[in-house]
Amino acid sequence: MAKTDREISQMATSLPRSGIRAAASLAVGREGLAHLEFGEPSVMPPLAVRQAAAQALLERRMVYTPTEGPARLRQALADKLGRVNGVTASADEVFVTHGGIGGLYLAFATLLEVGDEVLLPDPGWPNVVSQVLSFGAIPRFYPLRSADGYLPDPDSWPIGPRTRAVVVNSPSNPTGSVFSAELMERIAAVASRNGLWVISDEVYDQITYDQRPTAMRPLYPERTLSVYSFSKTYAMTGWRLGYLVTPQSRVDATKKMAETVYSSTSMVAQEAALAALAVPDAEIQSVVATYRRRRDLALTHLRQWGLYRYTPGGAFYLMVDVSGAGDAGAVHRRMIEEKGVVTVPGSAFGASAAGELRLSLAASDEDIGRALSALGDLLDVR
Ligand code: PLP
Repeated sequence: MAKTDREISQMATSLPRSGIRAAASLAVGREGLAHLEFGEPSVMPPLAVRQAAAQALLERRMVYTPTEGPARLRQALADKLGRVNGVTASADEVFVTHGGIGGLYLAFATLLEVGDEVLLPDPGWPNVVSQVLSFGAIPRFYPLRSADGYLPDPDSWPIGPRTRAVVVNSPSNPTGSVFSAELMERIAAVASRNGLWVISDEVYDQITYDQRPTAMRPLYPERTLSVYSFSKTYAMTGWRLGYLVTPQSRVDATKKMAETVYSSTSMVAQEAALAALAVPDAEIQSVVATYRRRRDLALTHLRQWGLYRYTPGGAFYLMVDVSGAGDAGAVHRRMIEEKGVVTVPGSAFGASAAGELRLSLAASDEDIGRALSALGDLLDVR
């Protein structure tokens, strides 16, 4: 092989790009667009969070911290987990991570061998697919169908001798489905019967509209790795802070892996996170009420047009079937070029969503309004 052929590793060469980022790149350089492509809250982080970060900067609290995060923050996270999620964890079992994505990465990094199989939702958040592939492991997909309320049937999962783990995401990106306690119990039972690890992606744990989500860890404490984030609840996407909850038996391995990848997260963000955890629940609920209002507004239009039957119970996304207007990739392009509205084609989330577009309702009211009228025009349903 010529030397230049090996300048980039085979793994890096073969990894897929995030379809969300690829979809967004079509809009780069265009002005005045409505942005519904990212789960990027239009609201500000709470004032107390911004003030805590400013104070940390002024007082030079911006140095390296312990890899796993400072003890005070880990204790505050353990308290939050008990209070909000019904999860019992010692501070020692909580790792402050580089966003929710960092928690997912550490979970896979301490778990996977080359050739292991991991069950992933289709449609699902695409970055976990490339994370699994980056460890030489093999993604196997289980379907989430709109006809079933985007809920999985764990009894039909393709579990084989090499299946090591399953990723569960409730509330879900991109479908907005929230799994009932009974479904989470069934998932725990199937995982337990087959000796699987459950990676429970709960980054939307506080953004639900009808029922509170059920955490996986209390149901299956021995083999659950739970992932949370500050990005969504507190609109802290760019602060890059999340946390992973792991059984005690994996603490040392997780610490080594975190040391290898990022040594510590940002101290400024950690100080802000402590303030975030002290934000009154009423303040969080008022932001959730804004997302609920946007969901209801969008559903009213889409239902009038016969485009939507399902009601997302959490997160802030809608999957809209645009197959009536042709190929969803082409509709996505036309939305940008003719209407100035950026969305994401469903294919970014899996083969089963190829006829759909995902809209993020974290966008502003104005941008959501523009997106809905653009859809109405392009689908000729108004
Ligand atoms: N998991 C899901 C389902 C997500 O939608 C996201 C972000 O959009 C993440 C994990 C990653 O969270 P973070 O932005 O904190 O890294």
